[in-house]
Amino acid sequence: MSSLVGDLMNRLRGRLTCAETLELLQQYLDGELSAEEARQVARHLDSCTMCETESEIYREIKLAISLSATETDPEVIARLEAFGERVRNGDLAE
Ligand SMILES: [Zn+2]
Repeated sequence: MSSLVGDLMNRLRGRLTCAETLELLQQYLDGELSAEEARQVARHLDSCTMCETESEIYREIKLAISLSATETDPEVIARLEAFGERVRNGDLAE
């Protein structure tokens, strides 16, 4: 196998899909991923606007939760989730 094909295979193997990234996102933000997994997620977020936006939403949700540790405002969560839904549906075209 030529090194060119080998490189391509590595890149394909190392590249996360959006679904995989979103699955790992929570753990990524919690710092629970291995260094290698975290690097893969970070690389995907760098190249994918949708997942990057999603990670921002997660961050805001986590912040909202930490700000009201005993009582999470369901309206804030609902608003952020609705925003995430719009992003997924492509309503926020750039
Ligand atoms: Zn993505």
